[in-house]
Amino acid sequence: KRLVILGGGESGIGTALLGKAKGFEVFVSDNGNIKQNYKDVLIHNEIEWEDEKHTESKILNADLVMKSPGIPDYVTLVKKLIEKGISVISEIEFASKYTNATLIGITGSNGKTTTASLTHHLLKQDLDVGLAGNIGDSFAKQMLDHNHQNYVLEISSFQLDGIKNFQPHIAVLTNITPDHLDRYDYNFDNYIASKFRIVENQTKDDYFIYDADDPVIENRMNTHPIQSKKLPFSLTKRIENGAYINKETIIITIDNNQITMPIKKLALDGKHNIKNAMAASTVAHLLKIRKQTIRESLENFQGVEHRLENVLRINKVQYINDSKATNVNATYFALESMDAPTVWIVGGEDKGNDYKELFPFVNEKVKAIICLGVNNEKLMNAFGNMVDVIIETQFMSEAVKVAYKVASAGDNVLLSPACASFDLFENYEDRGRQFKDAVRNL
Ligand code: ADP
Repeated sequence: KRLVILGGGESGIGTALLGKAKGFEVFVSDNGNIKQNYKDVLIHNEIEWEDEKHTESKILNADLVMKSPGIPDYVTLVKKLIEKGISVISEIEFASKYTNATLIGITGSNGKTTTASLTHHLLKQDLDVGLAGNIGDSFAKQMLDHNHQNYVLEISSFQLDGIKNFQPHIAVLTNITPDHLDRYDYNFDNYIASKFRIVENQTKDDYFIYDADDPVIENRMNTHPIQSKKLPFSLTKRIENGAYINKETIIITIDNNQITMPIKKLALDGKHNIKNAMAASTVAHLLKIRKQTIRESLENFQGVEHRLENVLRINKVQYINDSKATNVNATYFALESMDAPTVWIVGGEDKGNDYKELFPFVNEKVKAIICLGVNNEKLMNAFGNMVDVIIETQFMSEAVKVAYKVASAGDNVLLSPACASFDLFENYEDRGRQFKDAVRNL
């Protein structure tokens, strides 16, 4: 059978290797540039490939197509494949066919990487478990290299758009707020439906862990009942089967078996991280990780780079890198978690942002705003009258120097852009690294 892979990135190369190992005739096609190290892998494994083009005659004769999550369905080539009745799937769908491992699928608009990393951290103490998906090596490649008994998979909506039979034994949905709407006909309902595909193949023996405080999730569950067992988590409501908070303590109950842990012992700050910890610990409790192990691991988790990452303290000012906050909701939780007057570095490529929900925090906590973007007009309009100091910058080093001047002992300097990074940086990692370098150079 002929497997054609569109997109020669991490998931494409992983699928190519797994496909070849499973006996497919494999062809990789990318209309951009395939990175040299990936080309080397393809050549070494004698897998046919092309880049800078899509040769239709070599693609439309496929039996199966794996499409990279970066390629939208509305691209003409993809439409032609679908019209011909050729199955177009994602890497998660392809790879999951070839394993009997227990799959834990984690999706949501924000918190995927943090929750997936924390879940992996909790499970790995007692279980043979891999961490894959949108994070590190692809799922397909990890299966070839390790073949773990359990996988924690971070799954984007684009990966979910390409599933057919993918069935995680445990599905986690962290939250749903508008994001990536350009890929969903600017219709929020389509994006919600995409996120909920994480449960579509689950049966009554599977589990669904979700944020019961999220009105979007609750509404959807009311109109679209699901098959699997529900284990919700909430900061505000008492939950009989699932996780909630009582007297500053997280309580997780599954079939009358309870585990408790004090919030103040959690390694990560911020309300959103209490939610992430509840989700991850529910998975761990469900998979029967020892209670003491869960508690200790929640205490010693190091966090993930670029997510509310403490960088340095200089002259009693704390510098915090939250470069991964590429949308307003992520920045909302960053500002909420600030416990000191904050100099806030914000801006970048706007995604149709509405800043209204940030106003109360800005009034309460932000002493100065440093806009960092090619076009700062929207920020200047939104916040110009709200703070005494609002300054436009166009380089990270400049933004950090200005922040240093404005901040005084006891303050925080927070990079939490609420925007994409592509106007001034390669990606959010580059932005975060430049921030950390600039802070270290102060
Ligand atoms: P994702 O992988 O979904 O992008 P990350 O864990 O990388 O999520 O976090 C992205 C951003 O969102 C970071 O700025 C982080 O501080 C913030 N964040 C993390 N968890 C949550 C959550 N549960 N709700 C809202 N924002 C969150």
